[in-house]
Amino acid sequence: MTDCLFCKIIRGELPSRKVYEDEDVVAFWDIAPLAPVHVLTIPKKHIQSAMELGDEDGELLAKLHHGIREVARATGIAESGFRIISNVGFDGQQTVPHLHFHVIGGRELDWNA
Ligand code: 5GP
Ligand code: ZN
Repeated sequence: MTDCLFCKIIRGELPSRKVYEDEDVVAFWDIAPLAPVHVLTIPKKHIQSAMELGDEDGELLAKLHHGIREVARATGIAESGFRIISNVGFDGQQTVPHLHFHVIGGRELDWNA
């Protein structure tokens, strides 16, 4: 059992506002949203960051992007557009060491979000 924050959310040990879930992927609202829509899409498998992805994770990445499209449709930003961000490591300011894709939209974004 890992005490990773997002693994705890996946296991239901911490609450979250889920937007989408399937066998391999879960998406939930960010606790500190930067825009009207800010959802985190994550693999249920614990992977620390994009640097830890392997060649065998191609199918999982496709499923994560499927999840992102479902999030965009469910939150009403599929047509207006949005940004997908995955921070990696210290300089990337990754604060939770479990791979996640920020899906941010609902207003016109500038490059600083
Ligand atoms: P990072 O900084 O690693 O790219 O993104 C981590 C994100 O997780 C941040 O946007 C932060 O607001 C969010 N976050 C941190 N703790 C929690 C939590 O307990 N629940 C939810 N829903 N989001 C969290
Ligand atoms: Zn984890």
